[in-house]
Amino acid sequence: MALLMVFSTTIHSKQLRMMHSSIGDILKANSLSITDSRKTILELFQNSKGALAHADIENKTASQFDRVTIYRTLQTFVDKGIIHTIPTPDNSVKYALCKDSCGQGHHHDNHIHFICDKCAVTYCLDHVQIPQVALPTGFVYTQTDVLVSGICKNCNAPSLKATNE
Ligand SMILES: [Zn+2]
Ligand SMILES: [Zn+2]
Ligand SMILES: [Zn+2]
Repeated sequence: MALLMVFSTTIHSKQLRMMHSSIGDILKANSLSITDSRKTILELFQNSKGALAHADIENKTASQFDRVTIYRTLQTFVDKGIIHTIPTPDNSVKYALCKDSCGQGHHHDNHIHFICDKCAVTYCLDHVQIPQVALPTGFVYTQTDVLVSGICKNCNAPSLKATNE
């Protein structure tokens, strides 16, 4: 039992460094075998500055994988706590890498998402927490999604582009 606890702590600290870990390490830490689709799609997320939609992944992989493979891969990543879903104004969904201690079956992505009216990039604002909502008696809380729209940092001040992050 004690050994098991230590093991799961190791996985969590690994996920904190998700953005910088190697693809193989992330898949291994989540007990996933390394397949072409998993490798390629995870790499896309690591190299993307914003969230990705299913169609973005299809386009960026030049139809290397069929729709079902992409869908299953995304679903596996969501189940494992590697990526999380972001609702969009047109009722579709986007995906972004988890940076918190998300794990199999539980997510803690309690941050606001921002969509830029100009460049249409969807950002995870990791440090902007979703405010708690007080529900009336009898209502049970599941989840809050907050999507803020406006002009992103890059579009607002193009001259800062080279110096950001
Ligand atoms: Zn997550
Ligand atoms: Zn923008
Ligand atoms: Zn996010």
